[in-house]
Amino acid sequence: MPTIDPYAAEIVARRAPYDFVGDRTAPCSRCHDDTLQEGFKTFSSPYVGFSLPFARRPSTAGKIGKTVILWACTRCESVVSVN
Ligand SMILES: [Zn+2]
Repeated sequence: MPTIDPYAAEIVARRAPYDFVGDRTAPCSRCHDDTLQEGFKTFSSPYVGFSLPFARRPSTAGKIGKTVILWACTRCESVVSVN
């Protein structure tokens, strides 16, 4: 089970389905450190990953409907990367 609630942390849009992928240790740009991160697989939408500063760019529109994995830092609960 993930330690992050992806709905409460606003990583995944409310009511959007997701799968917990697992965890990894990787650098977090906000914490400036290697942190434990958890991956959530969901469908890309205008609302997915909206805590990302670049999520509102028009280029994300082309990804709508695709499956993405959002990696979230368990320390600061921000999305650190999207695969
Ligand atoms: Zn962090």
